[in-house]
Amino acid sequence: MFNIGIDLGGTDIKTAIVDMDGNIVAKAQRPTLAQRPYNEVVKDMADSALEALAKTSYTLDDIKNIGIGIPGIADEKTGNVIFCTNLGWYDTPLSKEIQKYINKPVFINNDATVAGYAEYIAVVSKGTHSSVFITLGTGIGSGIIINGKPWSGFHGVGAELGHAPLNVINGVMCTCGNEGCLERYCSATALIRLAKETLQKDNNSIIFEKCKGNLEKINARMVVDAAKENDEIAVKIFDEYVFYLSKAILMVINIIDPEVIVLGGGVSKAGSFLVDAVNKKIPGFLLYKNSKYPEILIAKLGADAGVIGAAMLGKE
Ligand SMILES: [Zn+2]
Repeated sequence: MFNIGIDLGGTDIKTAIVDMDGNIVAKAQRPTLAQRPYNEVVKDMADSALEALAKTSYTLDDIKNIGIGIPGIADEKTGNVIFCTNLGWYDTPLSKEIQKYINKPVFINNDATVAGYAEYIAVVSKGTHSSVFITLGTGIGSGIIINGKPWSGFHGVGAELGHAPLNVINGVMCTCGNEGCLERYCSATALIRLAKETLQKDNNSIIFEKCKGNLEKINARMVVDAAKENDEIAVKIFDEYVFYLSKAILMVINIIDPEVIVLGGGVSKAGSFLVDAVNKKIPGFLLYKNSKYPEILIAKLGADAGVIGAAMLGKE
């Protein structure tokens, strides 16, 4: 048997046929065109999944479940999307709609939770007692896996680490309307903001060469690369970023204390350079100075995490 995994993004719909161990058998993809009525998007999700299935020698009889990762919040009980801001979906009956085309059980969860689940099923956090997955991208996504199951909270709105308050007084304004959310300090966007603010005051840095003097062109990789090259200003910017990220990780430790913490998304491409920097900071922040804390790992699945994790949602 196989499952259908669907990664519904603001830009693309990615689908895959995935075996019961989390291996992709076939894939398909098409643009989301998010401004359309939701039923047109859902029809394309189903068509794309059927297109992936047609690339295999299997039929719908070989498919057990459909799993969907969405950039928002879902109600696992009703199969409705509670909201997806960048798609403009509110209380959308996603399960019922897709079952018009493929009549199989449907499981829906948040995309970061799904990606974290994929790492648990297939790769870096496989077989762990508990793991927390944090994506350091344009924003911050997070997923909590406890005893082999994704944890999204009672109302489906848990595991939203990105909007936990990190700086409650005079914090940076967040897209969600609150001030000082963690993603304003720990995302790739935050690292770029820190770099811009610093270089506006002092541009004697190789970051200034890398962006050819145009601060709007700065990306997270330029800052990381310059810090690796020991550029004094870049080291300072990266250190400030790592300070915030370590405080975010401390929050996870103090509330959940998972076995492992997995970092994904753009900034995680810094790899061991980032992990080593975080591991230098964490011990000084711990409540019990000599206590063990979660191993910090880098995600391995990249772009396929969404479809794999979605496909595995109905595993239980
Ligand atoms: Zn926020």
